[in-house]
Amino acid sequence: ATTVGILGGGQLARMLALSGASLGLRFLVMDTADDACAGQFAPLLVGDYRDKAALAEFAGKVDVATFDFENVPAESAHWLAERVPVFPNPGALALTQDRLAEKTLFRELDIPVPDFADVATRAQLDDAVARIGTPCILKTRRLGYDGKGQFRIKSPADVDAAWDALGAQAETVGLILEGFVAFQRELSVVAVRGRDGEFRAWPLTENWHVDGVLSASLAPARVDASLHTTALSHARAIAERLGYVGVFALELFCRDGELLANELAPRVHNSGHWTIEGSETSQFQNHLRAVLGLPLGDTAVRGVVSMLNWIGEMPDAAPVLSAAGGHWHDYGKQARDGRKVGHATLRADEAEALAQRLADVGVALGRQAQVAPVVARLREG
Ligand code: ATP
Ligand code: MG
Ligand code: MG
Repeated sequence: ATTVGILGGGQLARMLALSGASLGLRFLVMDTADDACAGQFAPLLVGDYRDKAALAEFAGKVDVATFDFENVPAESAHWLAERVPVFPNPGALALTQDRLAEKTLFRELDIPVPDFADVATRAQLDDAVARIGTPCILKTRRLGYDGKGQFRIKSPADVDAAWDALGAQAETVGLILEGFVAFQRELSVVAVRGRDGEFRAWPLTENWHVDGVLSASLAPARVDASLHTTALSHARAIAERLGYVGVFALELFCRDGELLANELAPRVHNSGHWTIEGSETSQFQNHLRAVLGLPLGDTAVRGVVSMLNWIGEMPDAAPVLSAAGGHWHDYGKQARDGRKVGHATLRADEAEALAQRLADVGVALGRQAQVAPVVARLREG
């Protein structure tokens, strides 16, 4: 049997392993934690991603390697790629690990981005704030996720506090200042590119974040066809430039009908979880097919789909399990503040039916605020 190695053993690796079971695949997951939740379904190798002995053991046991964790040191990914095929390629991984390199690439490809500036010193921060204006966001160039490593500068008076919070990281992971985009919507393209260059994308997804963490998604996003076409062509241009193989997500802001690229996640993505039940082929299945050089599956959506993230602790499953078109995902993790512990997917053939199901689930779980923006969007007509 073919063994797929996954660096990172969180819920993404877990869902990859569950999806790959139907293809007869074996998995080996590497993680720094011995309780990584993918380890409940696949053999787990506990080790540091910089430890060459652990990496060598991993490489010796797998036929192909991929990532659930985008911050695996690029150097380790390169080292691994000399021993076993690695998808996406380590160069693509390295580029997307740096917000500055990533935004520079988007700009080169004529993909609009928010204003941005590299910030290495306090003086450069002052200059950048003066040029870009407020509000703006100071972010670490590397290692940020779920909105961590970010400071919102509402007015010039906040610059001191921003530097106090992140200035020390200017020399380690680097900093970038970005103009704050007063977007009406956040969207993502989840797409897949095969080893042979075949490109497929799922319909555009609309996403809602709370405190920088994804809270809910809706697919297909209810946007003009032209926006859909533009978003997909941006995703395709990036994938082709990077020689990308596998699934990735391009996060976009939509402001006054214009799309601005935020970042690219070089892996299966939370905003694509709805594809498990909501699409003919899930992002997990297509990622595996891509990295193995198998034919890609149809990315068509089945009706209208919404995903609700469970953060911190799992709610009661019964209301979703008893809802028509309701599906439950518990990642088998310990409850912890801010942690993604599971999600629910609700599917219907028509928008109003989905709105009603979401509203009912929201009431039953006391999560009206979480479902409200999705319900409102579905009822806008
Ligand atoms: P992820 O978990 O998606 O990897 P991250 O830590 O990499 O998150 P971003 O995607 O850059 O962070 O930011 C998280 C959220 O913060 C965005 O989805 C968006 O809601 C908000 N945000 C980030 N940058 C901007 C911006 N320039 N203008 C407005 N809002 C922003
Ligand atoms: Mg990110
Ligand atoms: Mg993001």
